[in-house]
Amino acid sequence: MLRNDQLDQWDRENFFHPSTHLADFARGDLPQRIVTGGSGCHIEDRDGNRLLDSFAGLYCVNVGYGRPEIAQAIADQAKELAYYHSYVGHGTEASITLAKMVLDRAPSNMSKVYFGLSGSDANETNIKLVWYFKNILGRPEKKKIISRWRGYHGSGLMTGSLTGLELFHKKFDLPLAQVLHTEAPYYYRRADHDQSEAQFVAHCVEALEALIAKEGADTIAAFIGEPALGTGGLVPPPDGYWPAIQEVLDRHDILLIADEVVTGFGRLGSMFGSDHYGMRPDIITIAKGLTSAYAPLSGSIVSDKVWAVLERGTDENGPIGHGWTYSAHPIGAAAGVANLKLIDDLDLIANARDVGAYLKAVLQDALGSHPHVGEVRGEGLLCAVEFVKDRETRGFFDPADKVGPRLAAALLERGVIARAMPQGDILGFAPPFCLTRDEADEIASKLGDVTRAVLG
Ligand code: PMP
Repeated sequence: MLRNDQLDQWDRENFFHPSTHLADFARGDLPQRIVTGGSGCHIEDRDGNRLLDSFAGLYCVNVGYGRPEIAQAIADQAKELAYYHSYVGHGTEASITLAKMVLDRAPSNMSKVYFGLSGSDANETNIKLVWYFKNILGRPEKKKIISRWRGYHGSGLMTGSLTGLELFHKKFDLPLAQVLHTEAPYYYRRADHDQSEAQFVAHCVEALEALIAKEGADTIAAFIGEPALGTGGLVPPPDGYWPAIQEVLDRHDILLIADEVVTGFGRLGSMFGSDHYGMRPDIITIAKGLTSAYAPLSGSIVSDKVWAVLERGTDENGPIGHGWTYSAHPIGAAAGVANLKLIDDLDLIANARDVGAYLKAVLQDALGSHPHVGEVRGEGLLCAVEFVKDRETRGFFDPADKVGPRLAAALLERGVIARAMPQGDILGFAPPFCLTRDEADEIASKLGDVTRAVLG
């Protein structure tokens, strides 16, 4: 075991932390947290703290920490066969079984699953498949992709472009030219406060129609969206949003990619967000909940309609020119099989639904009447509390006041991890599906205390 001071020093000297203020970290202005263990909804750090992780890592440890069934499956697979590739028809029992399990759970028009490693690479795959699809159909001019402001789809070149958050574009020369952004279905932040949900949905549809008219439907290949916005603020869509958007896409022959990296496998209390909200996607992105992050694995589930064209493409052009060394890695696949089985055996999606509704209710009770709480919202185990300077006007705090990060830090001092979302003063709660009502009560009551302590 390394001494603590040695570990701290090596960390600051050698380790490039993602999504981190690099200069603050190097100077020691940003605290280190070295995580050593976890079980259920809790993690432990090397300083002996036991913390209630109400964001499940990065909303990915859906079955909770420390599951021996998944650890055993990984160990067994590593001993038997740690790796073989899946090019030119090769496979393993784990990868084939997992593909079958994913398809059994996916919407009925889905045909095949391609496995990657991260949500970002899965969305890169999806855009390549969409372009290939359009080329095979002889529509090479129909290539632009529409995403939404506040959408999150990864941080690669294309996926960082699709992500509709300025931080992911600034100084990276993004977004790429083929990417367009349209209005986010964020009812609380609508410009006209008098609009009803139905009027706001009509406004989102009009904005999309206007963008399509301006660019020309003949230039637009696909629309990508998370069923409920995640990193952009944890925002369930207003009623009727997806059927209305779907109608526009169908009319203009625009494919729909449902990015279910967060929502796939139960977070909203349904197996997929697409089913939950009446979306009819052509491609579905999966990652996080596929293995509950016990091993890196993602996937692109493609529909019958897309698959038929891909097959035709290979008849005309030879094998598909797309693949990663680690596609369908057997250790990830073994983790995925054990994870999906555990979700079924423990009926965790029903718990996500029930305890999710309870969590939202207790957050509402504890915070709903506070003068600086604008909205408590959520669906299943995806909940958020949005803080505002002025409840009437929904005015923001000055970003320099860092209200969200300060609230998250104060909550952490009381032993609860929430995520201060990157844009706006929003605290996100997306705990493991095994959350209990007692743990939900603890989150809400501690957040109530912290809110009064920080904001009065
Ligand atoms: N899509 C969504 C909806 C996500 O939330 C994320 C990650 N938070 C990604 C894609 C990218 O996944 P990864 O970080 O595994 O590349």
